[in-house]
Amino acid sequence: MSEECTHNCETCGANCASRTAESLLAPQHELSDVKKVIAVVSGKGGVGKSLVTALMANVARRKGLNTAILDADITGPSIPKLFGIHERAMGTEDALLPTQTASGVRIMSVNLLLEHESDPVVWRGPVIAGVIKQFWSECIWDKVDYMFVDMPPGTGDVPLTVFQSLPVDGIIVVTSPQELVGMIVEKAVKMAEMMNIPVLGIVENMAWFECDQCGKRHYIYGNSHIEETAKRLGIANVAQIPINPAFAQLGDSGNIESAGNVLEEFAGKIFRNV
Ligand code: ADP
Ligand code: MG
Repeated sequence: MSEECTHNCETCGANCASRTAESLLAPQHELSDVKKVIAVVSGKGGVGKSLVTALMANVARRKGLNTAILDADITGPSIPKLFGIHERAMGTEDALLPTQTASGVRIMSVNLLLEHESDPVVWRGPVIAGVIKQFWSECIWDKVDYMFVDMPPGTGDVPLTVFQSLPVDGIIVVTSPQELVGMIVEKAVKMAEMMNIPVLGIVENMAWFECDQCGKRHYIYGNSHIEETAKRLGIANVAQIPINPAFAQLGDSGNIESAGNVLEEFAGKIFRNV
């Protein structure tokens, strides 16, 4: 504790030992009511984090749950495109309003605020962190059962901000067979453990490709290591998603809500426990 300590961590920027994790939480908007927050993380980009976020939201929505996605990947936002949302978000005088997808998932993403959705976001870390906190605090998230947070990849400054500022109830880790060999995924898992956030499950994406000519499974990124990795990390809930060009096509055309009930069993286990 510093000599000038005011005993109010909210107004103090010092990162001293007596700072409480609670005090870093960004306040919710007074009209918001979010029951559970689940972050979707990965060790690196391009492994299918946004796809898994969208598929989890699909399952929740089909179960009749009030579902939201906060797109925290500020420099690589892809949630609006997956759901075919191209218009800008609306707001009131003092709040942002999430945009609804065709099936009723509410989303907020930096791409809904930019003048042109292809404009790059060239902001430094603290500005990006501020935007994520605004998405939580200045957006009205009315009656949300599950909010999924599409996280930026890795274990850097911005994911840390999300873990500290949002009341994250658990994480889902997305990996590819290749990434498991590289052990990058373990860093993401250990980061969550350090923040006392439970790991709710692990998804191995792009696990294999099933050839429609010969019907055989081809392990394009090498053999799966998911079972042994999950065992080593003590994660009981595991799912695999094959490479399926239909996912890429549905995503590119903004029709990810038509992807069917992928991850239903995996998501069901999470919804029973969280
Ligand atoms: P991330 O959010 O981790 O960067 P994305 O979800 O955006 O990754 O996926 C990266 C690209 O790979 C996207 O173009 C997506 O459509 C494609 N993709 C992801 N998973 C699959 C899959 N299982 N089969 C086919 N294409 C996939
Ligand atoms: Mg993404």
